[in-house]
Amino acid sequence: MNNEAAFTAMATRGKRFCTKLQAACLALAVLVGLLLSNTVIAFSQETAAGVQDGEARRASVAYDGMLEVSDEETVLLLKFDGKPDYRLFFMDRPDRLVVEFNEITLGFDPEFASKNGGLVKQLRFGSITSDRSRLVVALAAAAEIRRQALEADPETGRYNLRLALGGIEQALFSQRVAEQQALLGSSGEAVVKGGRVRSGPKREGYFTIVLDPGHGGIDGGAAGRTTKIAEKEVTLAVSRLLGPMLEKAGRFHVSSTRDDDVFVSLRERQAVARRENADLMISLHADALRQTYVRGATIYTLADRASDALAQQVADSENLADVVAGLAAPEESDVVTDILADLTLRETTHFSRAFSLMLVRKMRDRVNLINNPQRAASFAVLKNAEVPSVLLELGYLSNSDDEHLMADPRWQSKVAGIVSEAVAEFFSGRQPRSTGN
Ligand SMILES: [Zn+2]
Repeated sequence: MNNEAAFTAMATRGKRFCTKLQAACLALAVLVGLLLSNTVIAFSQETAAGVQDGEARRASVAYDGMLEVSDEETVLLLKFDGKPDYRLFFMDRPDRLVVEFNEITLGFDPEFASKNGGLVKQLRFGSITSDRSRLVVALAAAAEIRRQALEADPETGRYNLRLALGGIEQALFSQRVAEQQALLGSSGEAVVKGGRVRSGPKREGYFTIVLDPGHGGIDGGAAGRTTKIAEKEVTLAVSRLLGPMLEKAGRFHVSSTRDDDVFVSLRERQAVARRENADLMISLHADALRQTYVRGATIYTLADRASDALAQQVADSENLADVVAGLAAPEESDVVTDILADLTLRETTHFSRAFSLMLVRKMRDRVNLINNPQRAASFAVLKNAEVPSVLLELGYLSNSDDEHLMADPRWQSKVAGIVSEAVAEFFSGRQPRSTGN
């Protein structure tokens, strides 16, 4: 009864759903289970543990996590102070197990994130939307869930979730992921839609600027070595300073892809810019490089081929953002070529480059810039045919001088001021498009 256990996540989920929609739904869950495999057996530990499915659920906290490795199995033990609402699914390229929680605060000790061994290569956890969070288990090899048990302690009301992973053939793993995706969709992408967008009312005669502070929630981005500041904090701080400055600087309507510590997928970031019919999107980052001596700000625009090896390295690392959060990897590079052809037609590329030039000019001599600060690479978040987009790497958290500057609110404010100036000057001679309302 163990083989298909991994894919009983779906049946488990179906079962929960059923408590709300009753029998018709149960039939559906069974059918889906049968479609997945002839031998799917829905786990029933919850019921065995004496927990009634219909009981009222409250937001709970995951307060502890452990990893136990033996020759046969790798066991993840997660502890909750109430009944967890969760679902499991696998992803490949790279191979991952995603445990997604509803209305649960992941209060694991940060130490838990450094655990690895057996089939677990790396653990990441954090929020993905305002009410969902994920534990993303990067797998060292193809795996399945051999046993899954949710046990309640009736005395304390606490719960333990035990997931025992065992190794399987890569081909079988990939086949199961494909089957699962055919039924569930590719990556739970739908789940992360609707990241909190901050946007005021649009006004006729205004330019729309979308600010896109990089990373957030489960994906902290890079981290400083001494101050421990996370990239997601630096970018959000600068974005929060920049928004009001722009609104004061001219006829700018400002929207942000996030205004909080929440995960937003790369695709959703692009979608926000399109929905807002933005005149410009500015993505903010502060990454880390292997070359710790490299420092200074860089302004990137989209290209199918990277302008240099460093740009390629930065883009590769940025494009992994969704993978970290348990989403599918961004599109293949051949798609970029098509978009680029389209971009050229629409002059979006020209516009993006012209703005990046203006920004470099404004920043020069006032903040530290990298050598050749105007660079290009295939950044997933910039692949937007409709909206001129640039990605500003504020500096590199791998460099300690940069790190200390970027953690300093005065520096953050200074940079925000310069970007705001560049935007105001860039749009000064232009006429806003009619919004049509
Ligand atoms: Zn970044």
